[in-house]
Amino acid sequence: MANEVSPRVRKIPERQCIGCSAHRPKSELIRIVRDPNGEISLDATGKKPGRGAYICKASACLAKAKKSRRLEKNLSVRIPDEVYERLERELDCDER
Ligand SMILES: [Zn+2]
Repeated sequence: MANEVSPRVRKIPERQCIGCSAHRPKSELIRIVRDPNGEISLDATGKKPGRGAYICKASACLAKAKKSRRLEKNLSVRIPDEVYERLERELDCDER
């Protein structure tokens, strides 16, 4: 007897990657957050306070976001190169 799978569509919250502009489920993206002190960091939990932007867990997308300045526009803050480098390292760690 075939057990029918109900075709109920579960609503998965989607966010747009600021690098490649793809829409993906939140869980496949990583949040970059600017906390109230102006610190930029990766937010693996998605629960840090502050203004956030979403990006794929890929350094290629981070590079795109940097080039297009979309991350800066999204967080409305100037982001120095060293912060991008730090984020890139953190992304790499996360992939492993
Ligand atoms: Zn992306």
